[in-house]
Amino acid sequence: MKGQTTCRCGQCTGDIQDEFRNQLLVVEKVAGIEFVIISGFRCETYNKKVGGVAGSAHTRGLAVDVKAADSPTRYAIVKASLGLGITRIGISFKDNFIHMDKDLTEPQDVLWGYS
Ligand SMILES: [Zn+2]
Repeated sequence: MKGQTTCRCGQCTGDIQDEFRNQLLVVEKVAGIEFVIISGFRCETYNKKVGGVAGSAHTRGLAVDVKAADSPTRYAIVKASLGLGITRIGISFKDNFIHMDKDLTEPQDVLWGYS
């Protein structure tokens, strides 16, 4: 896994939860693609700054955005995610990332796009 999972605000040391990280490492291995983390943990302040949804799973350390700039990469990541219990997936074709999260307080088994 490349890129930082910790908050990019420069003020805090927030990071994604260990169990979620371990799950991502398994998904990464099965997908056969080294994940490049574009966004990991976000404190409330940083989440607001980057225009994240209020109360985003990123603020609980249960979401990451992984770079996915082409069709085979998207397919491999989504395929591995679905088989390994990632229950919330978002795809951005504009900013070339896949959001993966495991926040059980949000609706499960959902896949959305960003516009
Ligand atoms: Zn922060």
